[in-house]
Amino acid sequence: MQLKTQVLVLGGGPGGYTAAFRAADLGKQVTLVERYPVLGGVCLNVGCIPSKTLLHVANVLNEAKELNPAGINFSEPEINLEQLRTWKNKISSQLNTGLAALAKQRNVTVVNGTGRFVSDTQVQVDTQLIEFDQAIIAVGSQPVKIPAFPNDDPRLMDSTDALNLEDIPKKLLIVGGGIIGLEMATVYNALGSKITIVEMQEQIIPGCDKDLVKPLMVKIKKDYDNIFLETKVKSIEPLTEGLKVAFEGKTAPESDIFDKVLVAVGRRPNGHLLDADKAGINVDERGFISVDKQQRTNVKHIFAIGDVVGNPMLAHKATHEGKIAAEVIAGMATEWQALTIPSVAYTDPEIAWMGLTENDVKAQGIAYEKAAFPWAASGRSLSIGRKEGVTKLLSDKETGRILGAGIVGTNAGELIAEAVLALEMGANIEDLALTVHAHPTLAETLGLSAEMIEGTITDLFIKKR
Ligand code: FAD
Ligand code: NAD
Repeated sequence: MQLKTQVLVLGGGPGGYTAAFRAADLGKQVTLVERYPVLGGVCLNVGCIPSKTLLHVANVLNEAKELNPAGINFSEPEINLEQLRTWKNKISSQLNTGLAALAKQRNVTVVNGTGRFVSDTQVQVDTQLIEFDQAIIAVGSQPVKIPAFPNDDPRLMDSTDALNLEDIPKKLLIVGGGIIGLEMATVYNALGSKITIVEMQEQIIPGCDKDLVKPLMVKIKKDYDNIFLETKVKSIEPLTEGLKVAFEGKTAPESDIFDKVLVAVGRRPNGHLLDADKAGINVDERGFISVDKQQRTNVKHIFAIGDVVGNPMLAHKATHEGKIAAEVIAGMATEWQALTIPSVAYTDPEIAWMGLTENDVKAQGIAYEKAAFPWAASGRSLSIGRKEGVTKLLSDKETGRILGAGIVGTNAGELIAEAVLALEMGANIEDLALTVHAHPTLAETLGLSAEMIEGTITDLFIKKR
């Protein structure tokens, strides 16, 4: 069987379906190839959406407990794991059914099967050969496995297994204190597991400024059994009673037995799984495909987007790149111009940051001003019983332009949007300080932080320098 298409998109995740839909909306005839029976990729099916669904459950469970000091006491929750799983899956399937409908409305042909390049104008999907004028590679990434671990043992989980919620292990070890590890720790801790985290760097979420990570660290140090930094797992021995884990490194403890172990040490790109060499596309040794500002690979009519082109591996980066590739294919003069890609850890408290971190600013030798507004001085944060938050702003000392922002606290992931827009609009600190923020809101803390730099704040007393 042979099919001809103007634009072939390989991979139906957030990058792929966005690119396919945008190209179709711009008048192109599009074929979208996805190896799984549903669209949505990692994000919708085994990533962003199921994890945020479970994190919502965790937040409600935690919030109920946090009302104890206010004299409100709930009895211990009864957790019906099967129902929770069904509820979570229903949300993903609602979304991927929606995507199938959106593809149909746009006349995007969806082909199910694994695609591999045969040449620079052909992709083979099972018995079907698809000939294309232009192609967009959006094949995403997969969890990194540590070869020395007993990877066939079902008690050793990756993020997909952890999201499946087979059971609630009594003792759970999480290898990797990055975003996946910490989000899943939040979920399993709320469901009743005793958590230990082992992270090889000197802090959790190593890409983020230490002062923003601190309030989370303080909370989870109390809530979790152990957090071992600068430490790695030396070996895992499967025993009948559990997985016996030996550690090595600065804070390495004695070996211990865990019911389950989640490995969350990063993701690797899928660039080596599509015979890209047959189309002449360069793939580096790790599996990344390099692209220019218009998402073009070294082969002019083949584009690549999303996790497979590099870090940060985030859905909103993939969708943005998908639109660029589709628009360039349709003849528009689009290229990557966004000034920042915000990051959010949906932990409890959440951490969000955008623009330059303080570590970046220092490394680049930029003269900067900094303000960190403590949420303990925010009426709204006190009224929701969460005063550990901080809203931090960094601005250029000479121009006042916003360089970066970081927020740790409830809803930080929502709050960071204002700072992203401010950066994109070229706002300076005065613009943020003079913007009237509704009171009492958590969003106010951005305005108050800007007022700290401006020297106009009245909610705190800061001695004149
Ligand atoms: P993917 O979503 O990986 O999609 C690639 C698709 O291509 C897959 O459906 C795959 O089946 C298909 N495919 C691969 N090879 C072939 C082939 N040869 N032929 C046909 N089809 C193929 N990001 C966020 O921004 N926010 C979050 O909150 C967030 N949470 C996450 C939580 C978890 C647990 C995980 C694992 C990830 C999370 N991410 C989050 C990251 C996010 O999921 C990814 O960055 C995003 O899915 C990348 O999109 P993509 O289109 O590049 O690739
Ligand atoms: P990550 O890179 O964020 O974190 C992995 C962590 O594991 C790092 O802190 C690293 O130092 C540590 N590590 C690596 N090897 C180790 C070892 N042998 N022993 C101990 N620690 C080790 O990766 P992740 O958490 O697996 O997430 C993968 C990707 O998914 C990330 O790029 C992230 O952007 C994306 N993601 C995003 C979100 C979100 O946006 N909220 C949520 C989940 C995942």
